[in-house]
Amino acid sequence: MFSPSKAGFRRLLPLLRPHMRRLTWGGVCMLIYVGCWPLLAWLAGQLIPAIGAGELILVIKVIALALCVFLVQKLAQFGQDIMLAGPALRVSQDLRRDLFAQLQKVELRALEKLSSGDLTYRLTEDADRVGEVIYKTIQDTTPSALQLLAVFAYMVWLDWQLSLATLLLAPLVAILVSQFGARVMKAAERSQQQVSDLAGLLGEAIQGLPLVRAFAAEPWLQKRFDAEVDLHRQARYKTLRLLALQHPVVGFIEAAGILTVLAIGAARIQSGGMDGQSFSSYVAALLMLIDPISHLTTNFNEFQQGQASLSRLREIEREPREPPDLEHAQPLGRLKGDLLLSHVSYGYEPDQLVLHDLCLEVKAGQVVALVGPSGAGKSTLFSLLLRFNTAQQGRILLDGHQLSQVKAQELRRQVALVPQRTTVFSGSVAEAIRFGRQVSDQKVKEAASLANAHDFIMGLPDGYSTQLEERGTNLSGGQLQRVAIARAVLGNPAVLLLDEATSALDAEAEAAVQLGLRRAMQGRTVLVIAHRLATVQEADQIVVLDQGRICDLGSHDELMARTGRYRELCERQMIRDLQSATTIH
Ligand code: ADP
Repeated sequence: MFSPSKAGFRRLLPLLRPHMRRLTWGGVCMLIYVGCWPLLAWLAGQLIPAIGAGELILVIKVIALALCVFLVQKLAQFGQDIMLAGPALRVSQDLRRDLFAQLQKVELRALEKLSSGDLTYRLTEDADRVGEVIYKTIQDTTPSALQLLAVFAYMVWLDWQLSLATLLLAPLVAILVSQFGARVMKAAERSQQQVSDLAGLLGEAIQGLPLVRAFAAEPWLQKRFDAEVDLHRQARYKTLRLLALQHPVVGFIEAAGILTVLAIGAARIQSGGMDGQSFSSYVAALLMLIDPISHLTTNFNEFQQGQASLSRLREIEREPREPPDLEHAQPLGRLKGDLLLSHVSYGYEPDQLVLHDLCLEVKAGQVVALVGPSGAGKSTLFSLLLRFNTAQQGRILLDGHQLSQVKAQELRRQVALVPQRTTVFSGSVAEAIRFGRQVSDQKVKEAASLANAHDFIMGLPDGYSTQLEERGTNLSGGQLQRVAIARAVLGNPAVLLLDEATSALDAEAEAAVQLGLRRAMQGRTVLVIAHRLATVQEADQIVVLDQGRICDLGSHDELMARTGRYRELCERQMIRDLQSATTIH
């Protein structure tokens, strides 16, 4: 779980740099827009006494002028909004894109610890909120602040003493606003974390719904969900209560301030320090301050909430990254597939080794079966071969190249994985096999034929263009596996890592997958996490792993001749197979 921390919007400024041209034009429009306000206040000062004195011609002239100023101002506002909207939206788009790119680089083991629901929330809702703040800051906060400055400067020019009195009231408002702001931010942070937690729980719940139903655990899940929803409501309510309190308090102080200024102004006119016309302009200007102040207050709150979102987004940056490639990484070239593990030790936590001193030599084209109980370290070994993780001790060499010294992407093009449970993205079958690689349709078909998938794909309603549903639910388990095999062999890898599916396929589906696998394995070095006796028996070498150590190594016959861990495992599996065979028939 992430912990919120401070991070500023200032760090987003470099993202604005490419948009300087539009920003400049937007800025010019903004200056025209803002400059019209004091002019309008001045016109108000001319208009009010003229109306009072019944000077119709003057009134008409001033109104005509005011209309022109309004027209120019509104046109400038339109220009400003149009010019600034583009960069504002682009910055939030860039931010989201950057974060996603960073997410793709986060170390896999760190990624596994993060809740997918929480992450999704961050990259959608939090990113939206930050985008909104960026948009508002450029589009609304900046012109409001400038309007405040311009109008106030005009007021000082009109009567500095009265302006001083006005200014004395301002810090009171400012202190109150910032006090509220800090609280709103804290409350918003809590409330957003609650939504994230809720999203995390929802993610888990949706995945686990069938299981929950199977265990009749709906009331338990509902209770957990209700509790989470209640926490969210409470956190949100706290934010809303603060906001509800803030508006009337700040509003009342503003009103009291204006009335005080009016009283002082009246006294100034009486003492001859100011004339009626200037005072009318002054009051008009004063009224023109209310709007920007109110915008700034609201935006300040949103800014605080956005800050909370931004700091949650920035947490992704702090997750550990995949170590970068060495600067002088060796080019791999086409590999044969000779693999050598020399005294390899690895632990997810440096002081807790999961693999101990593994030594193994695999000749190109050999098939090696990895067997051992769950938790023995088989998947961890795969993660080292794909360089998801790097061995703390020892070396892994592929055709003499040390894995830590080659480019990860190059390595992964030649070491392909067929996972136990395949993930497919929604899209066509051909796209699932291509997985982003630029290869011809012919190559895709060849890979599918090799994986024994071509015939079933041709039988689908739209052949290779058939759209897969999310998680490939419109294909059977066996079909999905064959798609996964085709995907793995498409790049003609030298090494194939297979994690045999344990889920029961019916005999026919299994035979089809086996045929695909057998063809896919031809001419490659294959490491297979083996669950089936048949696979193990046919392997050139069998590595028996237990608690991260190789406790037995040899061919099936060699290992069966010994009374070791392997024979024990085999006998147990044979009994299990026999049992399941008798239950089926
Ligand atoms: P196998 O594939 O043989 O079932 P694994 O390689 O998955 O075994 O796990 C080996 C050991 O490493 C286990 O003790 C497991 O708890 C631990 N382990 C696996 N993945 C992680 C991870 N991402 N972070 C920390 N420990 C892990």
